[in-house]
Amino acid sequence: MIDNKMNRRGFFKVFATVAGAAIVAPAFLRGTAQAQEKRRGAAPAAGAAGGAMPMVDPKDTVAKAVKYVEDHSKAADAKGNHCSTCGFYAKKEVRAGKEVGTCTIFAGKLVAGPGWCASWNKKA
Ligand code: SF4
Repeated sequence: MIDNKMNRRGFFKVFATVAGAAIVAPAFLRGTAQAQEKRRGAAPAAGAAGGAMPMVDPKDTVAKAVKYVEDHSKAADAKGNHCSTCGFYAKKEVRAGKEVGTCTIFAGKLVAGPGWCASWNKKA
């Protein structure tokens, strides 16, 4: 019986910790993302302050790692493939006459429809 109470108490302690983290973590991460955007001098992420979703900077570490370019014709390895035909891409809008969309690899940012990276995967 005592063990049962202890287990219940332990459960509620763990539950309160997890629930608290679930409430605090998104706010913390949002604040961190905004601070990073501010340091870079870019617009805040969409939803954070109602601003437009930023574009992926080809000079970002992840972008460099996957050889992301905004124009697939400038990447010899692209072989005519581009973000618009990639399975990780979802069209979002047109900016300055160019289609842009979300990419699973770059959460919270947009890639250029005519862009390309080494992770290109044919859309099913
Ligand atoms: S994974 Fe696909 S959509 Fe994302 S940057 Fe690479 S080619 Fe473009």
